[in-house]
Amino acid sequence: MKDRTRNQPSFSEPLIFERSAAGKRGYSLRPLDVPRRPLDELLPPELRREQIEHFPEVSEVDVIRHFTRLSTWNYSIDLGMYPLGSCTMKYNPKINEVVARMEGFARSHPYQPPELCQGNLQLLQQLEEILAEITGMDAVTLEPAAGAHGELTGLMMIRACLSERGNPRKKVLIPDSAHGTNPASAALCGYQVQTIRSNDRGQMSVRELESLMTEDVACLMLTNPNTLGIFEEQITRIAGIVHEKGGFIYMDGANLNALLGITRPGDSGVDVIHLNLHKTFTTPHGGGGPGAGPVAVKKALEPFLPGPRIVEKDGTLRWDDGRPRSIGRVRAFYGNFLILVRALSYILTCGPQGLKQVAETAVLNANYIRHQLNGLYDLPYPQPTLHEVIFSDKIQSKLNVHTLDIAKRLMDYGFHPPTIYFPLIVSGALMIEPTETESKSELDQFIEALKSIAEEARQNADLLHKAPHRVRHRRFDEVTAARNPVLRWTPGSEKEKV
Ligand SMILES: *Cc1c(COP(=O)(O)O)cnc(C)c1O
Repeated sequence: MKDRTRNQPSFSEPLIFERSAAGKRGYSLRPLDVPRRPLDELLPPELRREQIEHFPEVSEVDVIRHFTRLSTWNYSIDLGMYPLGSCTMKYNPKINEVVARMEGFARSHPYQPPELCQGNLQLLQQLEEILAEITGMDAVTLEPAAGAHGELTGLMMIRACLSERGNPRKKVLIPDSAHGTNPASAALCGYQVQTIRSNDRGQMSVRELESLMTEDVACLMLTNPNTLGIFEEQITRIAGIVHEKGGFIYMDGANLNALLGITRPGDSGVDVIHLNLHKTFTTPHGGGGPGAGPVAVKKALEPFLPGPRIVEKDGTLRWDDGRPRSIGRVRAFYGNFLILVRALSYILTCGPQGLKQVAETAVLNANYIRHQLNGLYDLPYPQPTLHEVIFSDKIQSKLNVHTLDIAKRLMDYGFHPPTIYFPLIVSGALMIEPTETESKSELDQFIEALKSIAEEARQNADLLHKAPHRVRHRRFDEVTAARNPVLRWTPGSEKEKV
């Protein structure tokens, strides 16, 4: 196995506080050429920030080098494959960045009068229409700022609609393979969560749904493909069962990558769906950066969409606030505008055929990995999957090597580890989502790395227990880090660091 990580420059870098030297500045000003006035006259003390204790005093060069050096410690999608399952870490084409930085987009004010930003409103309207077309739904809001925010928005609409019909109902049904945000959103919206088990084929048990679906249930929250990467084949039947009792189907469409251009959730009975633009429609994500979780709905829920909505009046686009049944605003302005610009740029550069190819290649790549590693790693659900593949550490754990060891060792081979220990229904899960942007040669290197690690588990388990070896930091003591986090720097505290 070739060492991909050799010869990477790697600089030592102290904390910015430790770089501080009294009196250093990042700027210099010309001598004052107007009369000097006391600061209190210009800005009352109560409006001024107090001195920040130990605020670093550094030059411009110090700042730039500090953050540039830190950036070289980071693994990113621009450096290599990032197979984090359920996160869709695809490469983000730079053209989207160029478009998002165009002056008319980047520098327009969120509350600019509509007549001065008709182009931007048109862009939002176009994106709503395209997302409705992709999902097979009737209307879309772009307001929610992330997937979980979209879930809450969708559930609030369901609650509003059911309340109007006389009873908001009490429960939300969620399969045991769901993302943790689903039960959290349901609870936040005031619903009790009831879990539905998956069957041995990795799909939600329809029999269990039939027994749990009552007129107390507001909706079923279903992820499709689910977090095992498996398509819920019974979706139409499932929708029938839920609708018959007056409930809604909420689809978690965070991972739409496998469905693009192939099937539309709206055509199989879904009533509400959120999408994660930062996953499927390329925004650099991770690290808590901005995202977008648009929600698409069927006609029955349209009146409840958050406001304001864009409407056309006398040939001009404007914001309509007068929608009495709306759940109201869920975010300032109209969502994370520049993320929406990136998504539209991505969709238009791919085109319909390109989007379909995205889905086909994402599925092909995941199944190529599944096929190549089958036998070396346990496959709890051996059938072909969609955009991701889930292995477990069942074979390696007999050698006392576990998922965490495998994930840490992958870093030595120059890869970001996959998602681990999720979904919870697979013990010791390794959840791998390569996405469509990886070439065969990159996939082959990743497969080779995992093959080497399977061999190392047989030959030298200790090597894996201590991994990673070649990256900047060795294995962290996660228990101490969680129990005694060091969150604030004070002079001398660097000496106490573990
Ligand atoms: C990522 C993800 C979410 C949550 O999305 P955020 O943007 O992180 O809030 C929800 N459901 C599924 C299936 C996901 O993969």
